[in-house]
Amino acid sequence: MKIHALTTGTVRIRQSQRRGVGHGLRRRARIFAPGPLTGELPIHAWAIEHEDGIVLVDTGEVATARDQPFARFSVRREDELDRALRGVGLDPGDVVTVVLTHVHVDHVDGLAHVAGGRTRVLASAAELRWVASAEARLARAVLRQGLPAGFAPTPLQLAGPRLGAFATSEAITHGGRIVAVPAPGHTPGHLAVVVVRDGDHVLLAGDSVYDQDALLAREVDGISPREDVALATIDTIRAHVRLQPTVVLPTHDPGSAARLAASEPLPA
Ligand SMILES: [Zn+2]
Repeated sequence: MKIHALTTGTVRIRQSQRRGVGHGLRRRARIFAPGPLTGELPIHAWAIEHEDGIVLVDTGEVATARDQPFARFSVRREDELDRALRGVGLDPGDVVTVVLTHVHVDHVDGLAHVAGGRTRVLASAAELRWVASAEARLARAVLRQGLPAGFAPTPLQLAGPRLGAFATSEAITHGGRIVAVPAPGHTPGHLAVVVVRDGDHVLLAGDSVYDQDALLAREVDGISPREDVALATIDTIRAHVRLQPTVVLPTHDPGSAARLAASEPLPA
């Protein structure tokens, strides 16, 4: 199964979002305060060539993305998902399944290019409950970040068997080589996707961590509602890596594409 790293533009975020400063509400409020931004971070989406068709993990950002106090987007029309797929020789019409790691704009806005027709769109049931909550609706209104038109993913229960260090899972494809696992923290129902290859696993980590260094240093970001939950997910990923070689690919890690190309596992 070939995995393609697609890049739908870049984003600069507050350094206090990439690495949380302080604890509790103060940590979460900090990302709205003036402060330095990171350099340009990729906004990846992942396309997996499976015998059933193309499976996408996340859909990236679009050129009309609205800048926020904590995030400055740099996305051109030619960076969007449909062009990114064609750029690696894939046809957007061949996408059969989209798995959303979580419902933040830079992961769902590209849906317009692939949703509809026979495409399945999946997100965790816990994430969709949170998306419908008053708190999440208020945040979308304040930040003026609407959901893409026709947003209606099918809920995944993630109630299947243990996969490595992950206590539960849910197979996305026949044959069970593409599997969703719970990775809560960054958002309440965040999931990750494991691609089971012959010699290793590839973990498409979404924003469960922003980069491999944060994973190795056990550093929680500045946006996760609950630090303890985010940290437990970091520890689960690290435990998973000790069970079998695993290439870990966070969405916004500038090193992710190169580690995918080299099949470079996370140090155990
Ligand atoms: Zn993101």
